This record gives sequence, structure tokens and C-alpha cells, in this order.
Amino acid sequence: MSISRRDFLKLCGASAVMLGVGAKFAPPALAPRSAKVPISPKAGAGVLIDTTRCIGCKSCQNACKVANNLPTDDRPVALSATTLTIVDFRNISTKPNQPEIKPVKRQCMHCAEPACVSVCPLGALYKKENGCVGYDENVCMGCRYCMWACPFGVPKYNWQSPNPKINKCAQNCMADGKRDKPACVQACPQQALVYGNRNELLTMAKERIAQNPSKYVNHVYGEKEVGGTSMLYLSGTPFEQLGFRTDLPDEPLPSLTWNAQEKVPGVFVGMLALLSGIAWWTRRGNSRRERFWHNGTQVK
Ligand code: SF4
Ligand code: SF4
Ligand code: SF4
Repeated sequence: MSISRRDFLKLCGASAVMLGVGAKFAPPALAPRSAKVPISPKAGAGVLIDTTRCIGCKSCQNACKVANNLPTDDRPVALSATTLTIVDFRNISTKPNQPEIKPVKRQCMHCAEPACVSVCPLGALYKKENGCVGYDENVCMGCRYCMWACPFGVPKYNWQSPNPKINKCAQNCMADGKRDKPACVQACPQQALVYGNRNELLTMAKERIAQNPSKYVNHVYGEKEVGGTSMLYLSGTPFEQLGFRTDLPDEPLPSLTWNAQEKVPGVFVGMLALLSGIAWWTRRGNSRRERFWHNGTQVK
């Protein structure tokens, strides 16, 4: 059976109609949980991480695991579904054979306007009033959209699970009633971590820089990146040397991401139509290829 260009255009047209039908008759978009909480980029709590004070003791990493009921007998080297805070040891030396190691605590940045929340089709991720970006694993379906959207590579997939989902710092990330500050902050023996109102932390960070300009890089990481984050960093080393992304825009990323809540049902129906068309086209192509190989002549 051959297909004319006209048939092919008809097929594309039919798929486009199905896409439209899907969008028209799709159920109302699921309301993202974040919509219930007025998100102000500058509101809420945060944590100031002064990397110049960090000694790499990993107390924050272990306290996070205990607070989240995660295994403490592993030796993690990166964030994972079972390690929601990691102390990353960076060699910042520019001289060969003379390493200079700098520890940096990493975790979810708790963005003011989180890209992960904007793409989650089920509202499993949501911004809380206290600044934390929460996560409900009972709602998550494991689609991993949030992993692709996060500019900091934070959500991690639990590949070991028979019902894999993502995980990230969420439940105990800010004061939660059980404690007056996050578990990691509480555990830090160096006061490298300070919990408080984000605006006040920003003022504190800028004061530290002003009082000791030779000690600090003149930048508070998280003040403006992707619209601001609840986690703010101070450093004595250029942030890119510590492995921070310095190519991010000041604008929140959700304005650049598609609204998955609105588009998924319609796209799903449309994609079914499109895939059916592609499957038909592929089967037809296979039969053409079989005839080509069997007969040794190209089918016209
Ligand atoms: S750092 Fe990533 S996972 Fe955390 S709130 Fe921002 S976008 Fe979401
Ligand atoms: S994998 Fe991420 S985007 Fe998908 S449902 Fe779970 S939290 Fe939402
Ligand atoms: S507990 Fe404090 S000093 Fe120890 S690794 Fe964490 S941030 Fe650094």
C-alpha cells in the first residue's frame, strides 16, 4: 500500500484535530498546591550558609538523614534520594599537586518561584508559607518533570525502589513545629548556618561582606539567581570554583516553563492520536522495508 503526500497531510490534520479535541474536552487543570499560598519571592524564612566558616564536619548531612529517617551508614558523595543534604568537598587549588579542599553544603535551594513546582502536573511539589518547597510522595507519580526543570539538579530519583519517585529536602527543611530551626542548622557546630527571616539574613550577609571585604566575594548567591532563593550563600572563593552555576538568569524560571497542569490532559489525548498515526506509518514502512529486502528491489 502506498501513501500519497495528500494522505500524509490528512493524517497530520487528523492528529492536529485530535490535539484540539483533547485540549477542549480535557478535564479542568489540576490546581497546583502552590496556588493556595501567596508566593512572595522576598518573604518567608531562609538559611544563610557562610562557607568560610564550614569545616566539613558533615554534622548537617547526618542530622538531615536522621530527621528524614534515611540511612546513615552509607558514604554518599552526591545528593540522592537517600541523601538530601550533602557536604561537597571541592578542590579550589590552582596549583598542581597542592590540593586546597573547600567543603560546601548543598541541598534544595528552596527557590522563591520554583521551576519544579511549576512543572509538577500533580501538585506533589508546592511552596510553603515558611519558604520551604514541600514535597508529598503520596501524590508524586514519578514522572521526573521536576528533575528536568530544576536548574540546580536537586530532585533525585529513587532507582532502587519498585515504585520509584523523586526525593529532595522538603519535610524538615524549615522549622516545622518539632524544632525551631532546621535539623541541619541545629547540628552545625560552627554557626556556618543561620536560620531566620530571609530579608534579615540578606542584610546580615551584606553586613558581613561590608565589614570584611577581603574575606568574602562581593556577592550573596541566591539573592537574585532565578528570582531569589531561600538558601543564601557567602563565599571567600569565586562561586564558580565551588561548583555553583553562575549562568542563571535573575528572572524566575517558571515564566519560561510550560504550565504542565494545563497542558498534560490535552497533550496526552493528542499524543495518543499522533502516536497511533506514527505506529500506522511505521508498520507500513516496515512492510515496505520487508518487501525491499525480500525482493531486492526498491518499492516505488
Ligand atoms: S532548587 Fe530545584 S528542587 Fe529546589 S525549589 Fe528550586 S527548582 Fe525546586
Ligand atoms: S516526579 Fe516530580 S514532577 Fe513528577 S509528580 Fe513527582 S514531584 Fe511532580
Ligand atoms: S555542620 Fe556546619 S561546619 Fe559541619 S559540614 Fe555542615 S555546614 Fe559545615
